[in-house]
Amino acid sequence: MGRALADDRALEDLVELCDDIGHRLSGSPELDRAIAWAQDKMREHGLKNVRAEPVDVPRWVRGHERATLLGDPDRPLHILTLGRSVGTPEPVEAEVVVVRTFEELEAADVTGKIVLYDAPFVTYGETVAYRSKGPSRAAEKGAVGALVRSVGPDSMDTPHTGATRFADGVTPIPAAAITIEGAELLARLAERGKQPRVRLDLGAKSEGTVSSANVIGEIPGREKPEEIVVLGCHLDSWDVGQGAQDDGGGCMMALHAARLIGTHRQAPRRTVRVVFYTNEENGLAGAKAYAEAHGSEPHIAAIESDSGTGAPAGLRADIRPESERESVFEALRPYAQPLQAIHAGGLREGYGGADIGPLAEIGVPAFGIDHDTTEYFRIHHTHADTIDKIDPTALRWGVATMTVWAWTLAEREAAVIGSSTLRGRQEE
Ligand SMILES: [Zn+2]
Repeated sequence: MGRALADDRALEDLVELCDDIGHRLSGSPELDRAIAWAQDKMREHGLKNVRAEPVDVPRWVRGHERATLLGDPDRPLHILTLGRSVGTPEPVEAEVVVVRTFEELEAADVTGKIVLYDAPFVTYGETVAYRSKGPSRAAEKGAVGALVRSVGPDSMDTPHTGATRFADGVTPIPAAAITIEGAELLARLAERGKQPRVRLDLGAKSEGTVSSANVIGEIPGREKPEEIVVLGCHLDSWDVGQGAQDDGGGCMMALHAARLIGTHRQAPRRTVRVVFYTNEENGLAGAKAYAEAHGSEPHIAAIESDSGTGAPAGLRADIRPESERESVFEALRPYAQPLQAIHAGGLREGYGGADIGPLAEIGVPAFGIDHDTTEYFRIHHTHADTIDKIDPTALRWGVATMTVWAWTLAEREAAVIGSSTLRGRQEE
């Protein structure tokens, strides 16, 4: 922990990733370069068994994107097409129907219209439903396009992209995120009876499936090398900004925790395995492929950082079954003590992370670094997710938190929950 707090090597590597490679969308040449770079970095930092495990991922391309409020004169609206949206072979022009909830959508006639979801930010987990499911539900009701108010707490006219998903059997419609300012303008016009009309012109397209990879490196355990503690993050990002906080920073925490553990006078009892997952943002193919290939190995725990690089308060823990949760917390609490020095000794029930989700599903104790997300959701999935937003001190705290927990879970005599129980469950 002391060494994590005393150097900026995680930040130095993150600068390279962001400034020399940039953003890294699934199936892009930039992600391929990052996959090669990550293997070199893992070797440079002393990790063993470094490899890229192939994963097929979707290749989606943004293309041009324009939204125009029609009038005298026409006015541009700032948007970002949503991942997996279709494009508009011919621009779509229609009246905008503004709804704030799914109930309002159900009550509205949206046939031939563009639906705008103007749902204010409550929490990311709650509000993101309008982005992920809203366009599909609007399409089902006959809408010809969808706009979604960006999922963020406030805005400098900044659109936030992200994935949307059309339900099976629903014909996709073009869908884009609009800034909070743009959404509120359209909502005000509609409320004043000045029916807004918008033209959407999107060049997005899906180009099938291409080969990508999860990048893996290890600090082999000294006594029980077959037992694994995963340190996870995702190397892919959206195709705007630099993917600095989402999730370049998380990857640097995992990598540098492993580096520090690898230079300790002896290796921990179990293997620490760093996994840079691919395709978290628009498919989760890397997470699914890893669980399929490795789910039968005894995983003692998985730790992920994928909620930015704000100051960590400790860990969120997803322990299943629920009946084991309290005893796990009780057993782990003493190990959180040293982290209290940087106010990172918290341990609470919560979400582990998207990439370790499939491991949590099969009963692996899953932990997410519990970052302060106040600043994160202002820049998440935007052009502004760049290296200059990283607070070097908070990043060091993140590395320290990851290091302490990786070491604890890999070294502690007993597994988080009995490893025989775990193995039995995985064999089932
Ligand atoms: Zn992420």
